[in-house]
Amino acid sequence: MNYHDYIDFSREELLDKVAAAMSKKRFDHVLGVEQAALDLAERYGCDITKASLAALLHDYAKEVADKDFLDIIDQKQLDPALKKWGNNIWHGVVGAHLISAEFGLVDQEILQAIQRHTVGSAEMTLLDKVLYVADYIEPGRDFPGVTEARIIASQSLDQAVAFETAQTIAHLAKKGIPIHPQTLETYNSYVQFLKENK
Ligand code: GDP
Ligand code: FE
Ligand code: FE
Repeated sequence: MNYHDYIDFSREELLDKVAAAMSKKRFDHVLGVEQAALDLAERYGCDITKASLAALLHDYAKEVADKDFLDIIDQKQLDPALKKWGNNIWHGVVGAHLISAEFGLVDQEILQAIQRHTVGSAEMTLLDKVLYVADYIEPGRDFPGVTEARIIASQSLDQAVAFETAQTIAHLAKKGIPIHPQTLETYNSYVQFLKENK
């Protein structure tokens, strides 16, 4: 894979930098997401290089300290409402700004897919959906519903987005965890989409 259109890193240099930023377990997850993203990209006609880069970088900021995220929210003058959330939301939405700076990555499509990988969006590009779904179904994932999610993803990417979002919301609600408004927007949009496209 050649990344020179997007970053001045070879694949080897990129993998080294990503591995150095996280636990071995998380790095294995990242490689699994890349594998799943490449499969989906091939199936649904998404750019392979962009899918690979988005996958390899998507959780790069997952082990960044809360204080650093709060600083970026201030520096980049992001929505102050973000401050009440935590790492689960910040590592993608805010993390994309850090990833852009760390890797000299300015491609907005890739950065947007990373920003949306946890919460989705009411309207998603093919790349957004590929990363969002790949993160959920990568080979290392093992939770109730993942087998069904993999089957759905092999048939319809939009249905997979809807299924994953519904599952995530049910999981968070059962545990009494607050749901980010953008996750709800994703849910409403894709449930509506499926109704209209039955
Ligand atoms: P990961 O980074 O590979 O673990 O996967 P994600 O980035 O998709 O999700 C990170 C965490 O955020 C998971 O524990 C999700 O369940 C959780 N999450 C997803 N959506 C929301 C949301 O709307 N609100 C909150 N509080 N957590 C969420
Ligand atoms: Fe993540
Ligand atoms: Fe992930």
